[in-house]
Amino acid sequence: MKKITIAIDGFSSCGKSTMAKDLAREIGYIYIDSGAMYRAVTLYCIEQGMFNGKEIDVEGLRREIGNIHISFVLDPATGRPRTQLNGTDVEDRIRTMEVSSRVSIIAAIDFVRAFLVAQQQEMGQAKGIVMDGRDIGTTVFPDAELKIFVTASAEIRAERRYKELMEKGEKADFEEILANVKERDHIDQTRAVSPLRRAEDALVLDNSHLTIAEQKAWLIGQYQKATTEA
Ligand code: C5P
Repeated sequence: MKKITIAIDGFSSCGKSTMAKDLAREIGYIYIDSGAMYRAVTLYCIEQGMFNGKEIDVEGLRREIGNIHISFVLDPATGRPRTQLNGTDVEDRIRTMEVSSRVSIIAAIDFVRAFLVAQQQEMGQAKGIVMDGRDIGTTVFPDAELKIFVTASAEIRAERRYKELMEKGEKADFEEILANVKERDHIDQTRAVSPLRRAEDALVLDNSHLTIAEQKAWLIGQYQKATTEA
């Protein structure tokens, strides 16, 4: 069957990654979490002391960006990719609130986006890829055969994120998470470079009240339709 490119965009914590990962595994495609790449750059900046509160040393980062190498290694136990930063596994460290509260600042910087978008396009050259993020259908793969835009209410997304952190045994405060979700939505939608928006040809999926199984069935149906049309 002809391989296609699948772009899944949407707001933070709306379950995009889970659905993209499951779909990729089911159809034997590569899965790339583009958000993990912005998170890895953010972690690098935190560790290099480039943040002063929420202010970032943009010029320092411009000088350093060529030293940031991000890759993904498949975890044989789960079949899911784990993010590596300069050869070190950072999958857990990039999911903390400390990173979540700063990542949108990093993702709004034009040269950071250019740097990561070029790598993402390279990864998708051979098609057979599911990538999730904010600008995949609009900027990274504007010609993707299947584009999905996922959304859910901010409260429902914060609740999911809260449960996820609790399950991992991390400290979590619902109000703080809700504020973070809303703040990221705002920064992501209003930034000058590649703001979060739905591509005109993207299918909208509001999963506020869908179970994972319902969502999965819908997505597989869209994939089958797209591959027969491709
Ligand atoms: O998807 P996730 O919530 O992990 O992404 C973290 C952050 O990275 C987002 O809030 C957004 O600021 C940024 N991002 C982006 N473009 C992408 C993926 C993520 O700007 N393609």
